[in-house]
Amino acid sequence: MIPIKSEKDLQMLKRSGQILSAVMRKVEKSMRPGITTLDIDRLSEELILKENALAAFKGYKGFPATTCVSVNEEIVHGIPAPRVLLEGDIVSIDLGVNYQGYFSDMAFTLPVGRVDENKRKLIEVTKQALDIGIRQARTGNYLSDISHSIQSFVEGFGFSVVRQFVGHGIGMVLHEEPEIPNFGDAHLGPLLKSGMVLAIEPMVNMGSWECLIAKNGWTAITKDGLASAHFEHTIAVTDKGPVILTE
Ligand code: MG
Repeated sequence: MIPIKSEKDLQMLKRSGQILSAVMRKVEKSMRPGITTLDIDRLSEELILKENALAAFKGYKGFPATTCVSVNEEIVHGIPAPRVLLEGDIVSIDLGVNYQGYFSDMAFTLPVGRVDENKRKLIEVTKQALDIGIRQARTGNYLSDISHSIQSFVEGFGFSVVRQFVGHGIGMVLHEEPEIPNFGDAHLGPLLKSGMVLAIEPMVNMGSWECLIAKNGWTAITKDGLASAHFEHTIAVTDKGPVILTE
């Protein structure tokens, strides 16, 4: 069963999402060559706590940090470290907030300084793929209409969508039903209904979709070593269309 949120729940989730997006904007401003992925994590944690919210990922299934910071060929679940970001890197930042028991989840990929044209294009296509998926998140559509629209768009550019990690329902817990793949045929799965809250999160690889898990047991890395990008919003399906809560 996909939970349907009440009006009050939606308001609280919106507040959670607003806190998260404000934190993410500040993290974005801090991005420059020379900072470490650990610096990003410390800043995120400090900003979340200042809002009287909690870092939703910290300790989740044992994850050791506030932020997932994934660089270049790292797809998702990168663990913050004293690794220095260099001009030309791209860095995916994935962050979750728990505000009074209401969860929101958001990610984006940023260029560090100037990046090459292929990486720039990868970031742009992944960002647009998220927008396209969100547009399908309306009552009367099927869940897989989101998935299919993302895959079709991404593959049109010669990039691939990751299969191993998917979007998810979200609300009073970080991950709930349904799973939201970024691939598949249209018009399948449950019908979307007003009050569903979804974290839609395309992960897009420049080369093959295949991935490996690093020795740390967490970080997913592209098998071919080419770059990957990740964008995510928490959205609500409403009678008036999709509403982005992390904005
Ligand atoms: Mg997520």
